[in-house]
Amino acid sequence: MASGVNHPEYQRTQAEVNSYKAKLAAELSTATRGVGATAGAARQRFNELSSAFERQKVKVLGLKQQREEATLLARDTIHFSGTVAFTDPMACSACAVCVSICPYSAPRFNDKGKAEINPALCKGCGLCVASCRSGAIRLKGFDDAQIFAMIDSI
Ligand code: SF4
Ligand code: SF4
Repeated sequence: MASGVNHPEYQRTQAEVNSYKAKLAAELSTATRGVGATAGAARQRFNELSSAFERQKVKVLGLKQQREEATLLARDTIHFSGTVAFTDPMACSACAVCVSICPYSAPRFNDKGKAEINPALCKGCGLCVASCRSGAIRLKGFDDAQIFAMIDSI
């Protein structure tokens, strides 16, 4: 069975990522050529480019996540860390900070628009927990009651 970089899903998403990178490079090239235009036109072009960049960024982030999941699923065995983060959907305000800050692409939005964390990708680093302004993320084994119990036992 094909695995890792030879996995068909990996190769498909890689090709899409490359395609988006090429489009983005073309947009940047067009914008650079437009520097000599009037200030108003340049500003409008800059706004269009910013919007296009944000749209491409969201797509590339999604594809990167799919590619990493495909790579993971292609493995014969998957090991989960005991210390993983999880979200409280009721508290999540969908700000996307955790999605953009996680170095392992573990958080993503579910179909209800709330952040969820893939335990197979989460390394338990705690970055998202510290960054979530809604207090919607916790680390298993490190909730307040458990930390206070550890402090009390000292
Ligand atoms: S950082 Fe917190 S509030 Fe923002 S999307 Fe993630 S879980 Fe939701
Ligand atoms: S704990 Fe670290 S690895 Fe896990 S989801 Fe949060 S930022 Fe990502």
